[in-house]
Amino acid sequence: MTVEKKPFETEVSRLLDIVTHALYSDREVFLRELVSNASDACDNHRYQVVSNKSLKDEAREYQITLSVDEKAQTLTVSDNGIGMNHDDMVSNLGTIARSGTAKLMEQIRKAKKAGGDGTSLIGQFGVGFYSAFMVADKVVVTSRKSGEDKAWQWVSDGKSGYEIDSADKENAGTDVVLYLKKDAKEYLETIRLKHIVEKYSDHISIPVMLGEEKLNRGAALWQRSKSDISEDEYKQFYQHVAHAGDDPLLTLHWKAEGKFEYSSLLFIPTLRPYDIFDPRREHHVKLYVKRVFITDNCEGLVPPFLRFMKGVVDSEDLPLNISREVLQQNPLVAKIGSAITKKVLGEIKKMADTDDVAFKDFWYNYGQVIKEGLCENVEHREAIFDICRFHSTHSKDEQVSIADYVSRMKEGQDAIYYLAGEKMDILRSSPQLEAFKKQGVEVLLLNDMIDEYWLPAVSDYKGNTFKSAIRGAGDITGQSKPETPEEEKEQALAGQNDLTKYIKEVLGVSVRSVRLSKRLTDSAVCLVTDEGDLDANIERLLKMQGKMETAYTRILEINPDHPVIKRLGDMVKDGSAWEESSVTRDMVWLLLDQARIAEGDPVLDPAKFSERLARTMEKGLSVAA
Ligand code: ADP
Ligand code: MG
Repeated sequence: MTVEKKPFETEVSRLLDIVTHALYSDREVFLRELVSNASDACDNHRYQVVSNKSLKDEAREYQITLSVDEKAQTLTVSDNGIGMNHDDMVSNLGTIARSGTAKLMEQIRKAKKAGGDGTSLIGQFGVGFYSAFMVADKVVVTSRKSGEDKAWQWVSDGKSGYEIDSADKENAGTDVVLYLKKDAKEYLETIRLKHIVEKYSDHISIPVMLGEEKLNRGAALWQRSKSDISEDEYKQFYQHVAHAGDDPLLTLHWKAEGKFEYSSLLFIPTLRPYDIFDPRREHHVKLYVKRVFITDNCEGLVPPFLRFMKGVVDSEDLPLNISREVLQQNPLVAKIGSAITKKVLGEIKKMADTDDVAFKDFWYNYGQVIKEGLCENVEHREAIFDICRFHSTHSKDEQVSIADYVSRMKEGQDAIYYLAGEKMDILRSSPQLEAFKKQGVEVLLLNDMIDEYWLPAVSDYKGNTFKSAIRGAGDITGQSKPETPEEEKEQALAGQNDLTKYIKEVLGVSVRSVRLSKRLTDSAVCLVTDEGDLDANIERLLKMQGKMETAYTRILEINPDHPVIKRLGDMVKDGSAWEESSVTRDMVWLLLDQARIAEGDPVLDPAKFSERLARTMEKGLSVAA
């Protein structure tokens, strides 16, 4: 058979170009990546053996071996793990399996612009193997897959493509041979290699050998006692399990004993993982059973709203030899999941209470994801609320907790008020807030997309219901407006009733109804909804997603104390507003558009809007002249 030549996937070529040319400092991390892959390959094989009785005879002692050939100037990383066949090589070493590459490239470009080099980003997005080309100008991978007879060889110079050919290999597993570049001969030195393995790979649970010597400790890190583990060891382990290049923001290491037993070593990444908004919402915490790696996607082990967590959970009680699918249905998984959720939320709360800076970073990166838990996770809802923060009229700079909000509620205040929309500055200057400001009632300002999903699902917080500030009549504490004398009030009301009728007649179906406002103090108009109606922002979202076709018309509230409204009222009363040529019709339409603009919505009909505005200005100028 002739040698098969294949080009790299475009993405791989681009990445390799960056890897070989730009990333020069810290290139020793290539060894961490290759050892990490060898370790994963052994873990995978061990799982095959324990979960599949027919492979029982395949059980073996795992080992990763480094060897140096002075004459050929090569460094080889070998393992006796799962191995790869022809197709595995094509898909694993010729393409980029993970979707994070584009993002990595972007990050590297950014890092370079900022004066850095981006090396620390390698491995973060699952492209670790290619880091071999930082130190080698030729890489030969020879591998035999466990349970198969044929071995294969993959050869590449890391430029345009690679070649695959059949090969001879006695044992199952993989040898990665690096033909070291001229300026990378230091990686032939025993001391150098020993140092790198100790530095990055000490936590790997499979022995890494160089000659007769074992270079790493070879015990599962999460099984060791906390006092025995340095911060740096935690960090190296984190970078290994998470395929990450950053530091952990929070490290949680504990052992649960009692009804069920498990060890857990979990991390919150400092940098938000690139796939956090992937619609599959999968977590990647690895599940081990009695030190055997089972899966990194066990549904129910970590709830979706904590999917940014990385690390390991190692159970003593789950059965080893059942398939991944059946394992997920084991009720013990749900119990461990719940215990983990409780623990993690508790630790985040501690961070919120003690380390403001770290917590702010946390909330900035993960707040939107955490809020998903408010609608989905009834069991832990209160604990989730404890770590949620929201913008509010209480402060321009600091976000507030619901507990703080409740502690500031006014006497007679019947609800937790919120105003939801897309843009914070529009929310902050919204006319709907006027009466709240006047009465000193705080309003939460919610501008995350996710807020529209948890709000309808969560009726209350400790007995206080959530209520939209634009819904209902605007009575907040039952004392919104100062009393005016009865007679005067009736007179005024009669006039204003005519005015609301007039406005409704002009606007027709563009508004549902027109009424006097109890919530406005400065602005002339605003749009509101009734109790039980869709919130304006949900309506906006549904329209955006094409789920709703026509506008769900809203109620126009007018401020009877506003000079424009007063003048309009007079003109309705004396009949002049009803004249065909009257400018009041234009004004009424302009008022509606003004209310829309205040919410960040476009005017109803831009052409007509301009005409009306021009006519009104003309009229205003001729009066002034
Ligand atoms: P990652 O380890 O994040 O998946 P890498 O670029 O490091 O990404 O490796 C790509 C893939 O190549 C691995 O997912 C694995 O399928 C395969 N691979 C690499 N090294 C080995 C090895 N020593 N044994 C078996 N498979 C390997
Ligand atoms: Mg890897």
